[in-house]
Amino acid sequence: MVSTPPPRRRSLSRLALAFVAALGLAACQEEPEPLPRFDLILAGGTVVDGTGAPGRVADVGILDRRIHTVGDLSEAESDERMDVSGSTVVPGFIDMHSHAELSEDYGRDGRPFLHQGITTVVMGVDGGGTHEVGARLREWADSGIGVNALTYVGHGHVRETVMGMDDRPPTPDEMETMKGMVRQAMEEGALGLSSGLFYTPGYYASTEEVIELGVVAAEWPDAIYDTHDRDLGATYQGVGYDASVQEGIRIGAESGLRVIFSHFNPQGATNYGRADDGARMIEAARQRGVEVVAAQHPYTATQSNLRSYALPRWAAAGGQEAVARRFSRPDTARILQVQIMESLALRGGAEKILFGDPDPRLNGKTLAQVAAEWGLSVPRTVERILRENGNASVMNLDLYDAENTRLLATMPWMMTCTDGRTPAEGQNVVHPRVYGAFPRKMRLYALDGTDISVAFAVRSMSGLAADFLRLHDRGYVRPGYRADVAVLDLDEYRSTASYENPHQYAHGVRHLLVNGGFAIRDGEFLDGTLGMPLRKDGSPVTPGG
Ligand SMILES: [Zn+2]
Repeated sequence: MVSTPPPRRRSLSRLALAFVAALGLAACQEEPEPLPRFDLILAGGTVVDGTGAPGRVADVGILDRRIHTVGDLSEAESDERMDVSGSTVVPGFIDMHSHAELSEDYGRDGRPFLHQGITTVVMGVDGGGTHEVGARLREWADSGIGVNALTYVGHGHVRETVMGMDDRPPTPDEMETMKGMVRQAMEEGALGLSSGLFYTPGYYASTEEVIELGVVAAEWPDAIYDTHDRDLGATYQGVGYDASVQEGIRIGAESGLRVIFSHFNPQGATNYGRADDGARMIEAARQRGVEVVAAQHPYTATQSNLRSYALPRWAAAGGQEAVARRFSRPDTARILQVQIMESLALRGGAEKILFGDPDPRLNGKTLAQVAAEWGLSVPRTVERILRENGNASVMNLDLYDAENTRLLATMPWMMTCTDGRTPAEGQNVVHPRVYGAFPRKMRLYALDGTDISVAFAVRSMSGLAADFLRLHDRGYVRPGYRADVAVLDLDEYRSTASYENPHQYAHGVRHLLVNGGFAIRDGEFLDGTLGMPLRKDGSPVTPGG
């Protein structure tokens, strides 16, 4: 069966077909159009199309960098016909929370992501996205990037640009400047506003401040609020997990933005087994008509920085020099000694803090090990690192409960993310999620586990995300859509990246098309320049454009 007319006539033909079907006059159905000569046919694979429907054996015909036909193309002509029988053909995956270093020489080609089958990444998360979105998209277009990329404008970035690391409300003038920056970003193609209220300076903002900026973003239809919560459960002197989830929902509801919770999962041993509480809050908001979704990665460790994990928020105010000054004052320093230990206790202690920083004195060691080597107390070790390095990249082992993650994977609104940052040179030990989040999720819950079906997992990695992003020509193996297509050998699809030995590309992506070109062919990486920077409406930014 051939299920496709060319893209331009799609909706018209669909309408016609529906009409005919309604009348029960199948015999009157128009003659199928003659097939074109294809550029490429992926022949005989099992197509899992991103809708959540079970796979079916079909050929996928590609023409002019788009999927043209999904059906029986055994008679069709093509420049190339690849036999992919036995393999699974899926939409290129969408990483809903990414730290791909597309602006760095070492990260531009997106290889750790491509080898997982990821073809699109969502950037500017955690409140960090630039307001100069047009310039950023152009830069990516000019340099060439391996994956398609969209971005948010970050509340934290905007606040820091206007107010530095000050722990105070903005003046009316400062607020106007911040609004102007959000407006500029939205005009230039940002998806919406992201925030990282857990981090500084985001933490210094009131809920109302974020809502006020969200209202500006909400002037654009379908704009999104992406939240890294103020308190995922392990924030020192935080507001608590439940209040934090409610804050995220409130910001969306009151500003008129649709909400996505980043790496949604309660943190800390006191929240093990509490995933259903978070899920219930999301369900309740959805029932009230607020569009709320979430994304997850399947690891129990997080990765961020030492300052955010170990230092109370009040002590980070004012920036680097102010922090150093506080450590130099005996009375303040004494309080810090205590509060650093209390902060770390929420995270399982210094044994659970593992350095992923390029600094060779730190990389691969826990904070407890470094303290022992240096002959310093844990707080003194934190102080020395913050003084000498400013900050350091760390992981927090066992912060998430594996059973929480498993339960959340079954939610119909749960998407998938790596939360992965492309490692720089010297990061020999780094969070393996940048190499393995997608295959690990598939393997844990759909291939080895029976929590979700393969089709459900694929949907959480593609169609569901594309729908939420309002991308109208990606995320599905569907006629007319851009040819972002992965051919997976599901038996082989796995991640071997570990905390000790993270630099391992994922296995099992046999071929990967990004915008119709081969990024990976027969398991070999071929091209890291096929990605397109995308504006909010999905339109690509072209070099020089
Ligand atoms: Zn985050």
